Amino acid sequence: MSTASLFNFDNRFRRELPGDPDPRNAVRQVHGACWSDVLPTPVSAPRLLAHSREMAALLDLDEADLRSPEMAAVLGGNALLPGMQPYATCYGGHQFGQWAGQLGDGRAIALGEAVNRAGQRWELQLKGAGPTPYSRRADGRAVLRSSLREFLCSEAMHHLGVPTTRALSLVTTGDAVLRDMLYDGHPADEPGAVVCRVAPSFTRFGHFEIFATRGEHALLARLADFTIARDFPELAATAPAGSETLRAAWFADVCARTARLMAHWLRVGFVHGVMNTDNMSILGLTIDYGPYGWVDNFAPGWTPNTTDAAGRRYCFGRQPDVARWNLERLADALRPLFADAAPLAAGLDAYDRTYAEEAARLFAAKFGLRKWREDDAELAGEIFALLERAEVDMTDFFRRLADVDRAAPAVDTLAGAFYRDDLLRQQRPAFAAWLQRYAARLAADARPDAERRAAMNRVNPRFVLRNYLAQQAIERAEAGDTAPIDELLDTLRRPYDEQPARAQFAAKRPDWARHKAGCSMLSCSS
Ligand code: AMP
Ligand code: MG
Repeated sequence: MSTASLFNFDNRFRRELPGDPDPRNAVRQVHGACWSDVLPTPVSAPRLLAHSREMAALLDLDEADLRSPEMAAVLGGNALLPGMQPYATCYGGHQFGQWAGQLGDGRAIALGEAVNRAGQRWELQLKGAGPTPYSRRADGRAVLRSSLREFLCSEAMHHLGVPTTRALSLVTTGDAVLRDMLYDGHPADEPGAVVCRVAPSFTRFGHFEIFATRGEHALLARLADFTIARDFPELAATAPAGSETLRAAWFADVCARTARLMAHWLRVGFVHGVMNTDNMSILGLTIDYGPYGWVDNFAPGWTPNTTDAAGRRYCFGRQPDVARWNLERLADALRPLFADAAPLAAGLDAYDRTYAEEAARLFAAKFGLRKWREDDAELAGEIFALLERAEVDMTDFFRRLADVDRAAPAVDTLAGAFYRDDLLRQQRPAFAAWLQRYAARLAADARPDAERRAAMNRVNPRFVLRNYLAQQAIERAEAGDTAPIDELLDTLRRPYDEQPARAQFAAKRPDWARHKAGCSMLSCSS
């Protein structure tokens, strides 16, 4: 096989934006530049553990290309293909509400922008490929457990229809990485890994914030106009480049995309866990899978991130508010590009409006209603309160709700979604009363049950990457068995299909996983 001509690279980010003239790969503050030259640091023994065939197809790669040792070397950071020009980018961010200064790609190294035969642009990025000028005090590496979680969840989200960065490959490095997983003073060696992430753009809110904070307004304008031209081509055609009109339309579009993303997360029960502004994609993609989690028993206050356990800033139910707060920080950063703040305020209004519309659409769809009526909010609010009080599994509940017989609604249809028999017994009358009202509402909708069921099952997934499932795959992979990764990935390809043979992956969180590290709580150590 020849890997020489696999990709056609057109590295616009590097070509059109200023780079750091200092060639040293040493930790420092980088001023006046969007990126720094840096090569991945080679690893001992790169080996492909898993790959996404859909992402490979989008990059015009076939299985033989991907499985070759030459490709493992590239995806592990040991070799470059013609056209690859590795670099790390400079960004800042607000972390947990505080401005954190320069962050940047501390362990992610872009290889270049591959343009596929269909003309789509896909930036390839190795995460865990070694130190960069932005590594601060860390090692630039990533461990297998967090890499596997990022690899699987990126692809699972894509199949769920949620905007996300993608993952092409998961490679083990053969090197150990030292981590104190629980932050309890017990560091241990873990297997290292590299994920090849893929997205049209990895630009974050923090890329704009860093230049605004430093007063580098010309660079801020250049990055904004570059982003519009490269990443929002359909917008770029609507007004002159560099005009306030275009920049305002762009900010409003970022706001609307972010609103749609929040509605999707709510729909599927995803909690990002670290919604710092450096983890917010300008394209409204889910980005940076760290201590994320999936809601098991419905609880708006639940957060998977142990670092956030006290404040719950990034808990499930707060994500839409946090997204808006983050957009406000982006608006602050973009303020120097506008004569007054009105266009930015209009963008934030677009966030509120879009989120309200999306939430109404999403709730109607989740409950199987043709259209959301104002009084439906009460019906939904009641069941959400009940689901929380009775500790009912969110994913399982909505699949079972689709099975409810409008003519004879029965709590037994839902019983399997309860975690606790005592709470089922205690709350049974409340659920029965709610089901009566729900059935009456469905009757008013006059939609045949079969049609409603099919529609609900298209938006309420049967399979999500439950925390314990990822943890099981990790433990097996650490023991050398990668078959579960492929089986899980294969199941998550069709998350809305019944797939009876894969029922084990739809099972609610087992008891052993309730308080286990990696299943119910995750640290940022990765
Ligand atoms: P995160 O919390 O993973 O989004 O990371 C926040 C910042 O820390 C980003 O600038 C990352 O690049 C950087 N970072 C996280 N882990 C490492 C690591 N092991 N080595 C270098 N930089 C890191
Ligand atoms: Mg990050």
